[in-house]
Amino acid sequence: MVYDIIIIGGGPAGLAAGIYAKRALMITLLIEKVGIGGQIIKTHMLENYPGFPEISGMELMQKMEEHVNKFELEIKFTEVLQIKDGGSVKTVVTSDGEIETKTVIIATGTHPKSLGIPGEQEFMGKGVSTCATCDGFFFKDKDVALVGGGDSAIVEALFLTKMVNKVYVIHRRDELRAEKINQEKAFNNPKIEFVWNSNLIAIEGKDTVEKAVVKNKLTEEITELSVGGVFMYVGIKPNTDFVDADKDETGFIITKPDLSTSIPGVFCAGDCRTTLIRQVATAVGDGALAAVSAEKYITEQEQQ
Ligand code: NAP
Repeated sequence: MVYDIIIIGGGPAGLAAGIYAKRALMITLLIEKVGIGGQIIKTHMLENYPGFPEISGMELMQKMEEHVNKFELEIKFTEVLQIKDGGSVKTVVTSDGEIETKTVIIATGTHPKSLGIPGEQEFMGKGVSTCATCDGFFFKDKDVALVGGGDSAIVEALFLTKMVNKVYVIHRRDELRAEKINQEKAFNNPKIEFVWNSNLIAIEGKDTVEKAVVKNKLTEEITELSVGGVFMYVGIKPNTDFVDADKDETGFIITKPDLSTSIPGVFCAGDCRTTLIRQVATAVGDGALAAVSAEKYITEQEQQ
């Protein structure tokens, strides 16, 4: 059997692509490695997805999952290892075998970057975390450190203030890149203390985290913060190693306006492509566009 469209990735972009592909009556399969939802399920609250003034990432993705189930989207849980470009028929190589398809939509998203500092891997799950929503509760009434100045860092720092005693936000510059509305909330939150122009250089402890060692970039002064946990929000890396399409220097897939890639019949949607902003709203738009572009590609191929 040859599918019309194989979507790789079950986050907002992949699920939106699935809805549009099924409504276009395409024979569609969605392949997901871990579980439906993507990175957004780690976000405790979204306030910028239209129609939902306040909704948790988990709840939003449950609604999207219900929505794809309504259209009976076929979903397979396995890891994609490679896409072999055989022209009009491509082979998606997975850990469970090979599947043929006319088109592919890559919607594999990203994973959190790490700093590569001493203690970071050693204490992962023992005080170091990349998910405040999942792990915040373990640090109730403690002091914690959080690294980064982007949207993830500030949104999650605000979330942590609901349960911890204090959040040190360690940022390498003296200004944030997060949305202005959240910057304002963070500056006005008495539980957040900013540690500007500073790098986290080590995480120390015995069995669990006890100290965040911070170096000021301007004065070179080293400070030890007594903390029970460290949350890492230093950016993201795309999950695109398995694809040979053209990418930028950091691995994000380069797309044309119709979201086609350098491989004919292979499209890319959501956070794993080069784009100006990475939001659920834009990922969903990408998914819709990629599915319509894939359908158009199939029709054009069949007319040749
Ligand atoms: P990001 O926007 O790339 O921010 C990463 C932060 O980590 C930046 O402040 C960066 O500092 C810092 N950083 C990077 N490398 C570092 C290093 N080696 N040492 C110290 N600090 C380092 O990543 P993100 O916050 O995870 O967001 C990813 C994408 O998702 C963005 O497009 C974001 O807008 C989106 N997002 C949106 C929302 C929302 O809308 N509510 C929520 C979460 C994420 P510099 O600022 O100095 O570069």
